[in-house]
Amino acid sequence: MSDIKYSEISSILKKELSDFQFESKLSEFGIIVQIGDGVVRSFGLNSAFYGELVEFPDETKGMVLNLEEDHVSIVLLSLSKNLKEGDIVKRTGKIFSINVGENMLGRIVDTLGNPIDGKGPIKGKLFEMPLERKAPGVIYREPVKEPLQTGIKFIDSMIPIGRGQRELIIGDRQTGKTTIAIDTIINQKRFFEKNEPVYCIYVAISQKGSTIARISKILEEKGAMSYTIIVSATSSDPVSMQIFAPFSGTAIGEYFRDTGRPSLVVYDDLSKQAVSYREISLLLRRPPGREAYPGDVFYLHSRLLERSAKIIKDQEMAKNMNDIPLSIKNQIKGGGSLTALPIIETQSGDISSYIPTNVISITDGQIFLEKDLFHSGIRPAINESISVSRVGGSAQIQSMRKISGTLKLDQAQFKELESFSKFGSELDSSTMDILRKGKINTEILKQNPHDPYDIADQIAIIYVGTKNLLKKISIDKVSNFEKEYIFYLKEKHENVLISLRNGIFDEKISEILETVALELSDKYIT
Ligand code: ATP
Ligand code: MG
Repeated sequence: MSDIKYSEISSILKKELSDFQFESKLSEFGIIVQIGDGVVRSFGLNSAFYGELVEFPDETKGMVLNLEEDHVSIVLLSLSKNLKEGDIVKRTGKIFSINVGENMLGRIVDTLGNPIDGKGPIKGKLFEMPLERKAPGVIYREPVKEPLQTGIKFIDSMIPIGRGQRELIIGDRQTGKTTIAIDTIINQKRFFEKNEPVYCIYVAISQKGSTIARISKILEEKGAMSYTIIVSATSSDPVSMQIFAPFSGTAIGEYFRDTGRPSLVVYDDLSKQAVSYREISLLLRRPPGREAYPGDVFYLHSRLLERSAKIIKDQEMAKNMNDIPLSIKNQIKGGGSLTALPIIETQSGDISSYIPTNVISITDGQIFLEKDLFHSGIRPAINESISVSRVGGSAQIQSMRKISGTLKLDQAQFKELESFSKFGSELDSSTMDILRKGKINTEILKQNPHDPYDIADQIAIIYVGTKNLLKKISIDKVSNFEKEYIFYLKEKHENVLISLRNGIFDEKISEILETVALELSDKYIT
């Protein structure tokens, strides 16, 4: 239906209805004038506000997205076959919210918070949390200084993430993006077992049902579902559900954050969410901008990611936080956090296209995964030269910071010389040494999927690499050496690992690590 015809309908309706003194009713009610593709245009609803939830006769819900002069545009939150032009739509006066509670842990829910795992309703007390909410103001935030350990050697040593940080995972298709996020969730098990859980929320956006089933199975098998919630909007769900799924995940994360606990949200992935948003925006006839995305796609992602924060400890102060939902008003505690790991898919490694640059600019760093590295067997396939963590460094534990300081530089120097050495020129012995050390470190930094390392084990093995203690061993034996070395430390030097875990690294510890490494490495010399 063309716009002209449509405003004509509106004006006719207006005229007809004014005769009946319906004017006041029209502020609360509307009439569907057009419906299709999950979008409804309605006449009336004069008092509706942006983001308001509206209800149709068959109980289908919608959300007001465009307020225009002669009509209101609404996206439907579920598919409905019954709705037709002429049907009534009514305001609810509410904004889009979901019910969140402790018993959501271990469950798979949809964007509306309804369980979809066939395990029955979510029991226990639930609290209404709004999907859209202002980010905590700067006075309610603390600097990021507590680690959010991923269990991935490469990341915890060189691109450390802190609680409250937003770290982007970016790369082409099939480069290991999801694996990094899932392994970070799996790694939180050790904190759950210590009674210091980090509550994890994995938001699957526009993925296939089978992929989500696979992910939930891995999390289940690794014992990670006890502290994890999966929010899923599959590619066959209504587009609106795919757009709002990350907001649901954030609302759940905020429940934990504002009740004084650490939470972690993974958005997998925001490129697909942006595509859904573009689809809806075109249907709403919003003016398309670059790559046909609406101009506010930037705002969509920034208002989502701004809600990640480390909240101040001061309880009384935290209670004054802006926009606290009524439902949790009595439970507010300071010290909580929400860490975000958004994922973005690139095309042919191009991080300078529209959506990737947008999200890079609103995060505190990025982990860039490269196809070539992945295919050459370097996994996780992180390109260290353009991967950074802008705030996490101060969140690293002392012992890790002490031993990993030179690693990034060493590896950068190695990469540079490596590409240079490909030209086949004669290499002097110091260059050969750097190359060899770099190759050993590259081996040390490789890691299998779903096998996160305790921070102490990471420090112990990385120390061996940075100290160049494996000079003589053959490259293909590094992983065998590593296994035996860590096993040996666990058996004979548990106290060293405990110290490392507690941030302690001193002369005595370095001596033990060196002695053990040199002794064991003898076996692997060829
Ligand atoms: P997609 O673009 O399809 O979402 P992705 O970038 O999220 O892919 P993953 O699904 O994490 O990538 O991984 C792709 C494949 O690579 C999987 O089969 C996974 O098991 C494997 N893989 C990921 N990380 C590693 C690793 N560190 N070592 C070995 N294999 C890995
Ligand atoms: Mg993936």
